Amino acid sequence: MIDKNWRKKFRNITLEEGKAYWEEGAISQLDIQGDRISALVGGTWNYRVNILMKDGLPKTMFCGCMDAADGNHCKHMAAVLLAAEEKERPVSHLDVSSYIRDLSRDELMNLVLDLAKDEYTANRIAFRYSARSPEAQLKKVSRMMDEFFEPYRDHSFLNAIESCVFQRNVCSLLEDTAEELWNRKSYEEAFRLSTDVFLRLNDVIYDDFSDIESIMDSCMDIWKKIIRLPGTDGKNLVKSWLKARMNDDSIREILYETMEDFLDEELTTPDDWREELKEIDRTLELFEKEHGKAPVSETFLHRPKVRKRIGLMEELGADEAEVDAWCHEHWQFADVRDICMNKAENRGDKKKVISILEESRKLDAANPLLVKEYSDRLLKLYEEAGDRKKVADELLDRFHHESHEEQRNIYHRIRKLLSKEE
Ligand SMILES: [Zn+2]
Repeated sequence: MIDKNWRKKFRNITLEEGKAYWEEGAISQLDIQGDRISALVGGTWNYRVNILMKDGLPKTMFCGCMDAADGNHCKHMAAVLLAAEEKERPVSHLDVSSYIRDLSRDELMNLVLDLAKDEYTANRIAFRYSARSPEAQLKKVSRMMDEFFEPYRDHSFLNAIESCVFQRNVCSLLEDTAEELWNRKSYEEAFRLSTDVFLRLNDVIYDDFSDIESIMDSCMDIWKKIIRLPGTDGKNLVKSWLKARMNDDSIREILYETMEDFLDEELTTPDDWREELKEIDRTLELFEKEHGKAPVSETFLHRPKVRKRIGLMEELGADEAEVDAWCHEHWQFADVRDICMNKAENRGDKKKVISILEESRKLDAANPLLVKEYSDRLLKLYEEAGDRKKVADELLDRFHHESHEEQRNIYHRIRKLLSKEE
């Protein structure tokens, strides 16, 4: 142990000069072996200093400089003693904190990494901070989300007043965590967090859509970021997740619609439309192979998505003639006829509507409910056109197919019709 009274053996000016040397890091090769201290002091010239200690104080000191040759205790000796003293003294936490207080982030990183070369230190760091791995972080956040969501599952409604606090809590936890994960480039984890929160909404019982709206928006903001992430497959990640969830029957309507809109607005390109159109054509081909051109009513469960097919054609810029041609090619589908009928109605082409309805009534004769619906529409149109003969024929035609009660109803309608004719 070095006795700090060694300083008394030096002149103040020499101590100051020695301190400057020491602070500048001029001391190298410092070696302390029992009572012997040895070091090299750099400066204009390099001097080897050797000191022999006794009872904590220097007994004999040697330096090669002129000052020492004159018999003085030189600045080099003082510098070495300061360095030896520092090396010996236990460093307090206070010292450490003063040393690292002003380090930059990079310097701190390097320092920690350097320290972590020591296995014990590395283990300690892992123990203390591994819970901040993206995976662990997700678990932690998930538990916190449990607490936010628990009150509104099954046993309690989320009302407008509670929803303010609820949404703020959920959104800020979601957004903060996602940002942290994002900064760590844990994009997939950020996405998983957003989908976890989104699906939790499936169980929340709320008064009004707006009570969960901002949470949905926060989730979708993350999806948008993932999609736009350059150099990744974010688009497919989000898309395949959405598609898989939309096939899940337990998803409530509001979530389904939100996902569907997101897919349409953010993820659907003309290439997707073309792909979907081809897919519909494949099923259509198979369907026609099996059923030929036999009429297909709207109650046929697994019929090809012809409505969607027409929508896609229009979306892709097909002109009216092209769409019409396709429709007539697939006239056996009640859906196709329905679309054409609605278009004719919108143009005010009642004649066309009537002709499609009359045709459909025959084509879909096997489906009494559909026939009745056509018939109702026809009767209305005949009446509007003042075509009493058609009305009478239609009513008579229906008469045979109706229940007793309905027959009586028709009977009265025909009587009324005839009384007008007098
Ligand atoms: Zn010297």
